[in-house]
Amino acid sequence: MAKSLSFSTKKKNSNVIDAHIHLDDERFDDNRGELIAQARAAGITQFIVPAVTFSGFEKLKDLSKQYDCIKPSYGLHPYFITQHTQQDIDLLDNWLAQNTSCAVGECGLDFFLKDLNKDTQHYYFEAQIALAKKHDLPLILHARGAVDAVFTALKQANYFNAMIHSYNGSIQQTKVLLDKGIKFSFGGTIYHPKAHKLHKLVQYIPLDAIMFETDAPDQNLYPNFKEINTPLNLIKIIEHYSQLKQTDFDDSSNNALQVTRKFFKIPVHDS
Ligand SMILES: [Zn+2]
Repeated sequence: MAKSLSFSTKKKNSNVIDAHIHLDDERFDDNRGELIAQARAAGITQFIVPAVTFSGFEKLKDLSKQYDCIKPSYGLHPYFITQHTQQDIDLLDNWLAQNTSCAVGECGLDFFLKDLNKDTQHYYFEAQIALAKKHDLPLILHARGAVDAVFTALKQANYFNAMIHSYNGSIQQTKVLLDKGIKFSFGGTIYHPKAHKLHKLVQYIPLDAIMFETDAPDQNLYPNFKEINTPLNLIKIIEHYSQLKQTDFDDSSNNALQVTRKFFKIPVHDS
């Protein structure tokens, strides 16, 4: 019996944190506890869970009380700009003063979806950079088709304590961001066999600037795009990353664990 529980790869010694997962999403309402238990059994000890709208803050806070392994971050996602109000910035400010948050976000800019007003996106993003600065918290950034614009906003605020999730930029952009100490997280997109540009980027970025994420329930692994993504895929993502980077699983996961703990200030004993 004990034998069937052991892993076939070297991953048994490694713990890892899912650096970006929407575990509060309603698609997990029916099996959240089960998934968390399975993920923890596979060595995924904690989950950085970024909010997307103010209306979701209370649920996320409740879940973080119910499950110690859920580390909440509060913020206003650019996808949902039509749901945010200017008052939400003040509400977020008060919320950050009264509740534990490991970061500010998910926030940022999305120039991929054309119907999201750019000025409105900038308003909420820049206000949240100011809040991160005020509360001395790192930023969880969404930068789809908008890496340059996101960096310009950070530069204007002179605040670079940030990680870009599901990162996909050019080598040139990445050099500039690395210089400022910005971190990157990689998820299911690296799994696509045709993502050649991204694979080069994975090889380029040093291990000490990398975290891993699933972004579940979205961004399932190739070719299962229609199915719901789960935290369990984090192991596959790290395995695939390790192949691309030509390093072993334990090296990748241990490095990412240190980077993620340090960035979000998660104590070592808390796992
Ligand atoms: Zn996300």
